[in-house]
Amino acid sequence: MYNCICVQCGTQFAESAQPPPSCPICEDERQFVRLDGQQWTTLERLAADHHNRLEDEAPQLLGIGSEPEFAIGQRALLLQSPGGNLLWDCISLLDQKTIAEVKESGGIRAIAISHPHFYSSMIEWAERFDSQIFLHAADRQWVMRKSPRIQFWEGTTLSLWDDLTLANCGGHFEGGTVLHWPAGASGTGALLTGDIITVVQDRRYVSFMRSYPNLIPLGPAAIQRILETIEPFPFEQIYGGWWKANVSSDAKAAVTRSAERYLRAIASAGNYG
Ligand SMILES: [Zn+2]
Ligand SMILES: [Zn+2]
Repeated sequence: MYNCICVQCGTQFAESAQPPPSCPICEDERQFVRLDGQQWTTLERLAADHHNRLEDEAPQLLGIGSEPEFAIGQRALLLQSPGGNLLWDCISLLDQKTIAEVKESGGIRAIAISHPHFYSSMIEWAERFDSQIFLHAADRQWVMRKSPRIQFWEGTTLSLWDDLTLANCGGHFEGGTVLHWPAGASGTGALLTGDIITVVQDRRYVSFMRSYPNLIPLGPAAIQRILETIEPFPFEQIYGGWWKANVSSDAKAAVTRSAERYLRAIASAGNYG
């Protein structure tokens, strides 16, 4: 018996004697099965030729990503807060070196994840650090390895400690969640977004998609819902799902101007034909 990890999306599955027949997350229209078919690995095999890099993305915000890049290539963020550390998003690889380094940084009180593409090996992390996991209940069906450590929350917001707040924006996934960190950006506030609000190559802008690899846009109602959900929160910076994919200043205005540009682009009578 072992826990398979999907090579394409990095999701770890429940223990089984045989690899699962398919990966529902990759079969979904928001992801894809790789050209040479479904492939699986395990944590042990992954650790044999990958390691994690830990590097500060900002003060009190430690990035954790795998090298060479694995699956979707995201980096998680260990948010260090007086009331306890929150691991925002997650990655597939957890090895002894990472465990030691994260312990040195204060461990993990809880894990919160933006959406199913980053569920990865969350149960391994939660068990190793004795933490609970906050996931939005609307994405319950995408959990491939169940655990009593998962706490499904409902509604628009969930308050954690130190005024950290999870907010359900929907969009890319119905349960799509962002994290507001009021102490971030030197006390002016930061939003941690995964790709629920994704920071694009021009880091003065963000974008929003149902599927990034398959280029399926969102409609006006979904964009409006994202804007309304984040409206109550002040934030100067955004930390997206990948290394250095951050908006470093004026981030709330960046979301507004990005949404306006997006809505113009998808409007049938828009400026972009
Ligand atoms: Zn997959
Ligand atoms: Zn995604």
